[in-house]
Amino acid sequence: MPAHPGAATPRVLVIGIDGVRYGLLAELPTPHPGSIAEAGFLAPVEVDGGTPTMSGPCRATILTGVGPAKHGGPTPEAWDECDEQVTAEAVHVLATCEPEASFVHLGAVDETAHFLGCGPDYRRAVLRADERLGRLLAAVRSRKTYASEAWTVIVVTDHGHVDAGGHGGDTVEERTAWVACAGPQFAPGRPGGAIGHPDVAAQVYASLGRPIDPHWTLDGSPFPATEPAGPTPLPAWPRRTPTGYGGLTRGVIGDTP
Ligand SMILES: [Zn+2]
Repeated sequence: MPAHPGAATPRVLVIGIDGVRYGLLAELPTPHPGSIAEAGFLAPVEVDGGTPTMSGPCRATILTGVGPAKHGGPTPEAWDECDEQVTAEAVHVLATCEPEASFVHLGAVDETAHFLGCGPDYRRAVLRADERLGRLLAAVRSRKTYASEAWTVIVVTDHGHVDAGGHGGDTVEERTAWVACAGPQFAPGRPGGAIGHPDVAAQVYASLGRPIDPHWTLDGSPFPATEPAGPTPLPAWPRRTPTGYGGLTRGVIGDTP
């Protein structure tokens, strides 16, 4: 399938939700990754063995430019507020501006697990992230020019967590990440091969119809084409559609009920 059929303007939205355990998607009512999966796919991603399952330096330090001794370390509530501000700003930009490629990062889920483990607070944080994802998708659908655009949406998590909260080790819970993607290049189904984190950037270029310069020495490749779905990798996928959002239809974020 062409990257952008007809004259539709290609656009890409990548949403990173930090530290969401893959298995939890089947347990919690998270309809927005579900709606993307029904339009495209959702698949586990194994963090490769040479990479520590860490998000990198503490994001508070990244955002503030000072170390924990000065910023004191944020609380989960502070991260939730941070995600809320990020979401509100992203909704505004996605609905009214002309972003060709966007990346939105939601970090509260990961921080909550670090502070409080993978219990009820963690689950609540995942539900909050799902609700924010829904608002981002609704913002895309609300665009005046939406009908003449071809959006690819990728939702990705970077690693899981151990039960007590924390990552960096080699357990299946930490090393199993996931990606969900819907866009004009993907019929609903499952990816015809394994996907790794380095493939996300390559897919962004592919969705925009831009050639990948070999000099960049990208480590990944665009996602493999989907195959008709067999048994879903999520045994008890909650197939419910949130009121007011509608599902995603074949390759695009649709407005069908
Ligand atoms: Zn973390």
